[in-house]
Amino acid sequence: MSTVGRYLDCSTAGVRALDLQLIRQIERISPGLLVDFSKFNVQCGGGCHPFLQAPAAAALKKAITARGRKLVVNSAYRTISQQFVLYSHCRAGRCGITAAAQPGKSNHNTGLALDVEDAAGWRPYLEKFGWDWIGSFDPMHFDYRGPGCKNLSWLATKAFQQLWNYNYPERRIIEDGQWGQQTEKVLRCVSVNGFDSSPGFERLANPPELPQIGTSLRAGMMGTPIAQLQKKLGIPSDGIFGSGTTAAVIKFQRDRGLVADGIVGVQTWQLINEQ
Ligand SMILES: [Zn+2]
Repeated sequence: MSTVGRYLDCSTAGVRALDLQLIRQIERISPGLLVDFSKFNVQCGGGCHPFLQAPAAAALKKAITARGRKLVVNSAYRTISQQFVLYSHCRAGRCGITAAAQPGKSNHNTGLALDVEDAAGWRPYLEKFGWDWIGSFDPMHFDYRGPGCKNLSWLATKAFQQLWNYNYPERRIIEDGQWGQQTEKVLRCVSVNGFDSSPGFERLANPPELPQIGTSLRAGMMGTPIAQLQKKLGIPSDGIFGSGTTAAVIKFQRDRGLVADGIVGVQTWQLINEQ
């Protein structure tokens, strides 16, 4: 079994199973953020995940329509595992990779970048609709600079940290969305075939659904899921997530050694349910 740390293949296609678990987790954190563009006139191979933020995808569609031919995409959305593989190749001088940002820092990790074949031919069409060519040091790469997108540089790393903590509750790491030594160390240990193939695996790769379609519960929300949460916490259940609920969540998180941010995400919800 190969782990991410031992993966030396130049193509990132071999980490696809893990990628799909990470992309699913991103969908849980930010439902609807990434839009699937595989139905456009594009070709997107084994290491390519056809996802972009909605405004970037809409602009891409206009560029493809304007040129009227198929766009060959080598890389679009990149998970933290893919970015780590490329970053490692680049640092080691492998695979002819001349540029690769630190995991989490690439626009590919936020759904705002594309690497395409025939970049020179596509450049005028892409640039017309808000996609900027980065320059000759990374000649296939374009960044979307148009309006309406979110800066989510924490998202790809956070998705991994959450899945790690879910699968290895005894080896929790901080879920801060920041790439660092601790995250790198544990990512290296994960199987390229995903969490359910990783050493010591005991749980499903996908955490239980949150009470509201994949959304974290936080201050200001109201309704049945909040009342449910309050009952579990043993506080008056008025269905309104106010300061009293926040205090109870923070206390629960502190008691359990979680990051005490007062927000009920996947991990907090899981532990609240288990008590
Ligand atoms: Zn790129």
